[in-house]
Amino acid sequence: MNKTKRIFVALIMALVTLTSVMFAGCSVGTNGQNPFHTHSLTKVTPKAATCLEDGNREYYTCSGCGGAFADVEGTVMLFTNQYVIPAKGHQVLKHGEKKATCNSVGSKEHYECRWCNTLFKDADGMFQIEEAEKLPVLSHLLTKVLRKEAVGFTPGWEEHYVCNNCDTLYKDAEGLIETTLEAIKIAPSLTDFEYKIAFTPAANVESINGTGGAEYISATYTTADNGLPATQYTLKAGAKANMEVEAWIHSVVSQTMANGQNLRVPTFNGVARKMEMIVKNDGAQDVSFRYYAENYGDKGGVDVTIAAGETKTVTFEVKPGGSIGCNYAFKLLSDVSEETKITMYGYFYCEGEVDSISLYRDADKKNFKVGDSFTLDGLVVKAKGASYDEVVIANYMTDLEEGYVFTAEDIGTKTVTVAYGEYTTSYQITITA
Ligand SMILES: [Zn+2]
Ligand SMILES: [Zn+2]
Ligand SMILES: [Zn+2]
Repeated sequence: MNKTKRIFVALIMALVTLTSVMFAGCSVGTNGQNPFHTHSLTKVTPKAATCLEDGNREYYTCSGCGGAFADVEGTVMLFTNQYVIPAKGHQVLKHGEKKATCNSVGSKEHYECRWCNTLFKDADGMFQIEEAEKLPVLSHLLTKVLRKEAVGFTPGWEEHYVCNNCDTLYKDAEGLIETTLEAIKIAPSLTDFEYKIAFTPAANVESINGTGGAEYISATYTTADNGLPATQYTLKAGAKANMEVEAWIHSVVSQTMANGQNLRVPTFNGVARKMEMIVKNDGAQDVSFRYYAENYGDKGGVDVTIAAGETKTVTFEVKPGGSIGCNYAFKLLSDVSEETKITMYGYFYCEGEVDSISLYRDADKKNFKVGDSFTLDGLVVKAKGASYDEVVIANYMTDLEEGYVFTAEDIGTKTVTVAYGEYTTSYQITITA
């Protein structure tokens, strides 16, 4: 071997050795053993991928050759895709615009990554934002609402202000005193039903506190012109002012009506009641008296003067008291020089649930001729509910108006429907030529 050939062989040997070392640095033998390199392995702890950064499964890496291995001996080599968990990328969801109210700020439409909650201006998640752009709090925009009186069963309300933006109610135009519809409600004059009082028979007349009224004041049961039960007081000559009797119904006692049916008046503890009486003085002298709810002392009641021959409508309120019922007392406020008859009947506005209605008394007239006017005279309607037996109701309606004049087209039998709210009853009338 000459010198040139020896150098060449040495070069080849060096190259082979170098190649082997380099080869060993990039890879290992099939059995993981490499005669040129001993792996120095470190365990890499697993890490979850985030939206933007890759994660990895647990593996071992060699500080010498940079290889990745499944095992601590470095025998099972891993490809990148076997230990790297790729980043998921943001997945954005849209948040629609949230309108501002008078009490809270709103926000403009924006996007949010469902994984990392990063906020973005755009649907592609290109422009990251710290927070959604705010829409400023609205200021109250107050509109005046005029006072509305209660009508029938419908409540009204006091004058107030309402915000067009947030519907909040205020007592004042400046929006400083907040209120509620309940607080400004005007209670209806009629709560559920209205019925007419059945007055007590004369037997209930008693003096109050020994005033001698019972000797000078008597009461009999009678019927008013419109068919309703009424009480007629007879004031004897010599009756003096301040004599008192109680001669009216107790509000929980059944009353025997003229035709033998019972009417019961519901209790009314704790609730104010309106009463309306029609009072007629058949005598030749003016009479002054006080009418009140006896059990409640001076709570409620009214002083009245009815002139000789006069008929007057008298109203007053029985204020709430602890008792479940009461008698209605009659106290003379003027001396009586000659016998005088006072007739009363009335309405008592009361509360109760209605289950059904029916006719308490038929209309006087059920047969009409062509040219006659329809009339409801004499008709008395009663209601029945779970909390009471029966009460007479005043504010019913009929489908045929009073005063309607029958024509030849009406000849035959007609049904008159009587309605009270959703409850109805009916009766037949006949129209002839
Ligand atoms: Zn290695
Ligand atoms: Zn994300
Ligand atoms: Zn508002």
